[in-house]
Amino acid sequence: MKKLSFDDLIGKVCVITGGAGVIGISIIKALASAGLKVAIVDINEELAKKVASELANEYNAQIIGVKANVLDKASLENAKFVINEQLGPIDLLINGAGGNSPQATTAVEQMEESDLSNLEKTFYGLQMEGFDKVFALNFKGTVLPSMVFTRDMLLKKSGVVLNISSMNSYHPLTKIPAYSAAKASVNNFTEWLAVHLAKVGIRVNAVAPGFFITNQNRFLVIDEKSGEYSDRGKKIVNNTPMGKFGEPDDLQGAVLYLLSDLSAFVTGIVIPVDGGFNAYSGV
Ligand code: NAD
Repeated sequence: MKKLSFDDLIGKVCVITGGAGVIGISIIKALASAGLKVAIVDINEELAKKVASELANEYNAQIIGVKANVLDKASLENAKFVINEQLGPIDLLINGAGGNSPQATTAVEQMEESDLSNLEKTFYGLQMEGFDKVFALNFKGTVLPSMVFTRDMLLKKSGVVLNISSMNSYHPLTKIPAYSAAKASVNNFTEWLAVHLAKVGIRVNAVAPGFFITNQNRFLVIDEKSGEYSDRGKKIVNNTPMGKFGEPDDLQGAVLYLLSDLSAFVTGIVIPVDGGFNAYSGV
């Protein structure tokens, strides 16, 4: 029997967009531990280079930081040129850049009669620029890098694209309609591209992270004074059958599985990594 391991990943070149972020850093640690070469493609060049050099030292791995905007094809093509020169042809792509905008977030979860006199806090106060930004970053920001960074994979007839979706792609979370719909479009595109590229050896899958405490949401889910969960934090934990938040490192196993040959016959799926949140109706 073939030895089951992640060893086929050793020496492969993986691009990760938005790799200088919280989830990206945790994923890069897993990639470096598994022996991959990594290119962090991020709009924040300074941070990308800093994260790259720190993790390269920590893991004794080849990791570079390259500036590009996932919404600008020319900048992605420039980044590809740099990556090819420094690391070689690209084998794997993780589309990690994504996020929400306050302009596309309602202040209230549900409309009450009392909100009728102040529509600003509701759906009616949302700015379309916010919708455009969030849709562009999460959807187009997944499509364009897939177009640019899979070109080497076509030549090898082998490669993997891994998209980072979210829990809200299955059921929209309150307050964030654009982010939820944009991540739903990422799942849909994952399936579409998986079918389109199946015969040329490129697999396309996604992970849907549930709730992780990160620097961006800590203030929303943990009460600063008491250190206990806030009301929103409690709601999340109560709806997560495992009864806790995840740690970004909880994504590492699913990511390595989908990148490696262990999932050689798996394409077009989205794996929830959510402590059971998606499976639970709340009752
Ligand atoms: P983060 O904000 O910490 O990192 C995002 C990174 O993307 C940053 O380094 C930023 O500079 C970069 N970026 C932003 N716009 C860019 C652009 N136009 N071009 C290139 N790079 C750009 O976010 P995170 O929490 O690490 O999230 C990473 C992914 O995981 C996102 O797709 C997010 O939607 C998804 N996600 C996060 C959570 C969570 O709890 N943090 C949960 C579910 C899904």
